[in-house]
Amino acid sequence: MSKSGVAVIGAGIAGLSCATALQQAGITVQVFDKSRGPAGRMSTRRGDGWQCDHGAQYFTARHPDFRVEVARWEQHGVASLWSPRLQVLGDGKNAATDTITSQRSVDRFVGTPRMTAPARFLAETLTSRYETTVKELQPTESGWRIFSAEHGWLDETFEAVLLAVPAPQATPLMQSVAPDFAALAASATMRGSWALMLRFDEAVELPFDAAFVNTGPLRWMARDNSKPGREGQETWLLHASAEWSEAHIEDDAEEVSRALLLAFNQLGGQAPQAWSAHRWRYADTAMQLDHMCAWDAQRRLGLCGDWLNGGKVEGAWLSGTALAKLVAG
Ligand code: FAD
Repeated sequence: MSKSGVAVIGAGIAGLSCATALQQAGITVQVFDKSRGPAGRMSTRRGDGWQCDHGAQYFTARHPDFRVEVARWEQHGVASLWSPRLQVLGDGKNAATDTITSQRSVDRFVGTPRMTAPARFLAETLTSRYETTVKELQPTESGWRIFSAEHGWLDETFEAVLLAVPAPQATPLMQSVAPDFAALAASATMRGSWALMLRFDEAVELPFDAAFVNTGPLRWMARDNSKPGREGQETWLLHASAEWSEAHIEDDAEEVSRALLLAFNQLGGQAPQAWSAHRWRYADTAMQLDHMCAWDAQRRLGLCGDWLNGGKVEGAWLSGTALAKLVAG
């Protein structure tokens, strides 16, 4: 059995930033993900002539290190500033709107031409294996063994394993090998979110491109094709609030779609020609943790991800690079 370098489980932005930093430090690294490609929750649904970001909507870049990284992404054409006409909808009954000027002062970035682009850019230089759902980890004298649902026990062993998956998916993997890490992951409560993607033959006549919604089931709505680099059909994305989503998480997608379409209509939106719903079981963290990441140098096990550091794209990226520094150091 050959011994490989470090295994990073999860090709979301945390896992990819971690793997990139490890590789830059001269460490051999392999990334595994259960999906067909990278990006995790920075995701985009694509269809015939349309696309829509249905996970993360935009990201901020406040930390100097992340600002440098986002500038690099901009140089490579995989991210750009998005300056939507933004409103806050306060009262759904009469669709009264207020513009919060402070919201405008925030720089909002998006992946271009879609939200998956920064992750795909990072993944290009990494060795990654997709459709590999890690089910079990086993410490042996020659390193960590990995069992996946699709391939059984992998041939290699790894000198370290770093989990970059949402907390509820980290807990069962850690239970038998690192109960303290399992307890840490179990302490993070992640909440679901329903997303509805709407497609229109004509432009929607709303006087804004995105809105925070403070009434009814919705929390956010955005004209996806107002983001830079998008082409194709007019597409809107609706996100239900965490509270509403949690209360309806097991509901039928058709029922959820009807409720969210009604809310969109009450806010002045017209009926779409087509729509698709997506249920995110783990969208964000209810209570923010500020651990940044976790590393056990003796067991050679680590954790990173948004849930350890504020619950956003920027926090996830920082968490991944912080873990890489500990592992490399
Ligand atoms: P993820 O992106 O979840 O990556 C984890 C990866 O691990 C996934 O690819 C998954 O397939 C893989 N995985 C899980 N279990 C296994 C396993 N057992 N084996 C192998 N692979 C596994 N952030 C913002 O900054 N701004 C926003 O506007 C915003 N809006 C959001 C809206 C929604 C609806 C959602 C869902 C998220 C939003 N976020 C937003 C949050 C943002 O998307 C996340 O903070 C960030 O993408 C998390 O990155 P991550 O790498 O930690 O996790």
